[in-house]
Amino acid sequence: MFDTVLIADWSAATRKPVKESKDAIWLGVARAGLAVEQVYCRTRLEAEAWLDMFFASERSAGRKVLAGFDFPFGYPKGFARQLTGQDDPFAVWQWVAQRITDDEKGQNNRFAVASEINRAFPGAGPLWGKPSEDSWPEIPYRKSGIIYDLVAERRKTDLVAKAASSCFQLFFNPTVGSQLLMGLPTLERLRKRHQAAVWPFQDIDGAQLVFAEVWPGLIEGAVKLALANGAAEEIRDKVQVRLLSQALSGLDERAFSTLFDAPSSEAKEEAWILGAGCGQLLDRQARLATTEADMTLAPPPLRNDCFALPAGVDWTPVDDALAHLRDRLHPVTAVETLPLSLALGRVLAEDVVARRSNPPQPNTAVDGYGFAGPAADGAQVLPLVAGRAAAGQTYDHPVPAGYAIRILTGAALPEGVDTVILEEDVTCDGAKIAFNGPLKQGANTRKAGEDAAEGDVILSKGRVVTPADLALASATGVSHLAVRKPLRVGVLSTGDELVEPGEPAAAGQIFDANRPMLLALLASMGFEPIDLGKAEDDRAVLRGHLDAAAERVDVILTSGGASAGDEDHMSAILREHGAMEQWRIALKPGRPLALGMWQGTPVFGLPGNPVAAMVCTLIFARPAMGLMAGADWQVPQGFELPAAFSKRKKPGRREYLRARLRNGQVEVFKSEGSGRVSSLSWAEGLVELPDGAVDITPGTPVRFIPYASFGM
Ligand code: AMP
Ligand code: MG
Repeated sequence: MFDTVLIADWSAATRKPVKESKDAIWLGVARAGLAVEQVYCRTRLEAEAWLDMFFASERSAGRKVLAGFDFPFGYPKGFARQLTGQDDPFAVWQWVAQRITDDEKGQNNRFAVASEINRAFPGAGPLWGKPSEDSWPEIPYRKSGIIYDLVAERRKTDLVAKAASSCFQLFFNPTVGSQLLMGLPTLERLRKRHQAAVWPFQDIDGAQLVFAEVWPGLIEGAVKLALANGAAEEIRDKVQVRLLSQALSGLDERAFSTLFDAPSSEAKEEAWILGAGCGQLLDRQARLATTEADMTLAPPPLRNDCFALPAGVDWTPVDDALAHLRDRLHPVTAVETLPLSLALGRVLAEDVVARRSNPPQPNTAVDGYGFAGPAADGAQVLPLVAGRAAAGQTYDHPVPAGYAIRILTGAALPEGVDTVILEEDVTCDGAKIAFNGPLKQGANTRKAGEDAAEGDVILSKGRVVTPADLALASATGVSHLAVRKPLRVGVLSTGDELVEPGEPAAAGQIFDANRPMLLALLASMGFEPIDLGKAEDDRAVLRGHLDAAAERVDVILTSGGASAGDEDHMSAILREHGAMEQWRIALKPGRPLALGMWQGTPVFGLPGNPVAAMVCTLIFARPAMGLMAGADWQVPQGFELPAAFSKRKKPGRREYLRARLRNGQVEVFKSEGSGRVSSLSWAEGLVELPDGAVDITPGTPVRFIPYASFGM
C-alpha cells in the first residue's frame, strides 16, 4: 500500500495561461482517501520541476508514493524492436528522451521526431495526424491508408479498457500519440533521478516510488457525477485528478492489490492501464469521493458518553475537568485544501513539509564583491570579471580563483564564489578591487537551506495558520495547505426575561447580553458563529430549538437555565435525553456547567450570568472547541505580575477575577458580582487564583492572563 497517490493529467500543448485552465497539466495528490491538493502547471518544464520537488520531499518524509500518469507507457507489441532493435520498452523511453526538445513556452519538436519514427517503419505511418495537410510529409494527415500489420493499432490494455484512443494519433482529439512523445522523456528522467520502479515493467515490491499508467476514462461515471453535482464550474481535468487520486488512495488493501495482479503477457512490453479489466472498482471508489461534502472526508462524530465524569466525584477541580475534555474530544471538521491566500486563521490538518530549501542555493547577504575565500591578512587586490550577479539574474560562468565579481544582495553565489566583501569596505577602479583582509571563508553569505531544508517539517498539524506561516510556506515552495473547515458553533440564549436590544422592555425584562458577546467571542477565536436566537423557558420549545440546531452546527452553546433548579430547563432536558452531565466544577464564577450531547452534537450549557458565561467559555469551551476544530490543546499564556490589590481566599475553588494591568501592576474590578457586565468591559484580562488558599497583599505575584491569550 502507498501513503500518497499522485495523479498527473499530461498535456502536449504549448504554455497555458496564468489563470487555471483546461487541457493543461494537472497534478492531484491524495492521502488515505482525502484530497490534499491539485496543482496547475502551465508547462511540462514546470510540472517536471514540481514533481522533482514533490518526490524528494515525500522521500524525506518517509512516504511510499504511487504516481500515475495518464499516457501510455509503451507502444503495441513489435514497435520497440522495429524502432530500437530491442523488445525492452525502456529502450523506447530512452530513444524518445534523447530526441525530444521542449522549452519554457512549451515549444517542441515532436513532429520531427514522429517523422523519424515513421521512417523506421515500412509504408505509411504508423504515426498520423498533424496541424495542416502540407506540413511534415512523412506524417499522414488522416489514418485511412495506414495498414497496422507489423504492429497493431491498439495495445491489449486499450482493448480491455475499451479506450478509443491509439498511441499513434498525434493530432485531433485525443492526441494520445503526442502526449506519449512529450511525456516519456519526463518519465525517463524522473525514474532515474528518483529510483522509481515502473509497473508492470519492473518488480514493485518494496519500492518507495512506483510509476504506473492510469486512464481517467475508467472513472468517467464519477467525474460526470461530480460535474453534475456542483463541480460544474470546475475544470474537468482538475476534477479528474482529484477523484482518481482520492479513489486510488482510498481503496482497501485487498481491492488495491487486485489492481496490480499480473495483467496479460503483452504488458511487459506494451504496458498496462492500472485498473483496466478490474470492472467498476475504481469508478465505484471515485463515486464515494464525490459524495463527500466538498470532496472532503469528515471524521466520525463524538461518542455520546464523552462528557461523562468519573462516578462519585462531587466538585471537580478545574484541571481535572480540562484533562477530561482533552482526553475525550477529537476533531469533527472536514479537511479541505486551500491556496495560501485563503488559509489564514485555519487549522492545519497535516504537517507541512518544505518542498524546497530556503534559501534554495547559497547567496549573498549584502551588496559587495564575491570571490573564493578566505582572504589573508593585509592588503588584497583582486581583478574583476566582467558582468555581475544580482537577485534573480544568475551569473552562469565560473569565477576563476583570484578574481572577484560584483554581486548584489540575494544573488545566488556563482561557481567559484563562497565569500563576499561588503561594498563599503572596498575601493574599486572598475577593473579591480582593493580591501584589507582578513576575511573568513563564507563571510556575508547565506548557506543553502540554512533557514529551512527541503523535506523539513516547517509547520505542524494542529497549528492555526499565521501571517508569518504564509511567508514560510511560500518561501519553501508550498502553494496549498490541507486545513480544516471552520467549526460551526451555534449560540442560543434561554430565559423568559430576555428581550432583544432595541425592543421595548417591560418591567422584569432584561436585554440579552450574552448572545452578542458569545457570537463575537467565537468569531475572534476563529470559529464560525451561528446565531440561534433565543428560546423561552419551555421544554418543548427548547427541544425544538436544539433539534433544529443539531442539524446545522457542530457545537451548541446555550446560556441560562444550566443549574439544577425548577426553572433550569436546559439542564433538565439534557438530563431527560440521557446524555447530560451536570459538571460541578470547583470554579468561581460559574455555577454548574451542563455538558451534553443532543443528537450527536455537543452542547455546552453555560450559566446565564454574563460574567460566568464568559469565564466558562474562555476556560472550558474554548480549548474544547479548539480540539473539535482540529487544533492542538490550547493553554492560555499568563504572566506572573505584582498585585495592586489585597484578597484573602479559602481553599477549594479556583477563582478568576476581572483584571487589568496598570503601571506594571494588576488591578481587579471593585466588585466580584457575577452580573456586572460593565466589569467585563472594564477588564483587559483575568487573574487566575489557584485552587488552594491564598493571601494576597499589594506586591504579591499573581497570574494575569490577558484577553488576547484567549484569542479575544
Ligand atoms: P440562569 O442561569 O438562567 O439562572 O440565569 C442567571 C442570571 O443570568 C439571571 O439573572 C438571568 O436573568 C441572567 N441571564 C440569563 N441569560 C442572560 C442573557 N442572555 N443576558 C443577560 N443576562 C442573562
Ligand atoms: Mg434563566
